[in-house]
Amino acid sequence: MRLLIVEDESKAGDYLKQGLGEAGFQVTLARNGLDGHHHAMTESFDMIILDVMLPDVDGWRILKSLRDAKKQTPVLFLTARDSVEDRVKGLELGADDYLVKPFAFAELLARVRTLLRRGAAPVQSEQLTVANLHLDLLRRRVFRGDKRITLTQKEFALLELLIQREGEVLPRSLIASQVWDMNFDSDTNVIDVAIRRLRVKIDDSFTPKLIHTVRGMGYKLEVESNEDE
Ligand code: CA
Repeated sequence: MRLLIVEDESKAGDYLKQGLGEAGFQVTLARNGLDGHHHAMTESFDMIILDVMLPDVDGWRILKSLRDAKKQTPVLFLTARDSVEDRVKGLELGADDYLVKPFAFAELLARVRTLLRRGAAPVQSEQLTVANLHLDLLRRRVFRGDKRITLTQKEFALLELLIQREGEVLPRSLIASQVWDMNFDSDTNVIDVAIRRLRVKIDDSFTPKLIHTVRGMGYKLEVESNEDE
């Protein structure tokens, strides 16, 4: 696995290079923005660790050049200030993760491994289809037949979960943890409300009906031969 580190502070750069080298990575260290930009644009890396505060070409420009050139190398950026603007800017420019300096090396290593796993995961099918319902995961679009349907982010995530586990009954608690990333008490109706909204959009004026309530258990998405819901 090849990593590019762009870091102008020499002690920090050496330390990262040595640590990641010992962790088994092949590391290229660029000590200024110009070199970093050059390496990033002309070579191929599995991941780039990018300090954004560089005296010459800053990290933002490197990141922007990469993404403008449609290079999807995962980028973890390092920022000295824990400012919301910085984080938002980095993520909007297409970074995958960030760390606020100072950080523990163990944390960096964990983030690097997570990003690489994500990047190295087998490319999922970009289209999910059940009956005449199509999800285009890459473009975040949903169609029922030819009709494009606009969903909120949560609705899309909910539908993606349901369609990926087509035919399985998903308990509310599982939906809550997967889609909302939190635990809801089982008596909350957040899930039910979200399902109802999703149904209005993707099921109400179409056939076959795809989202089904399994009483006392949860929800599932499938084409049922006998439907009355
Ligand atoms: Ca710096």
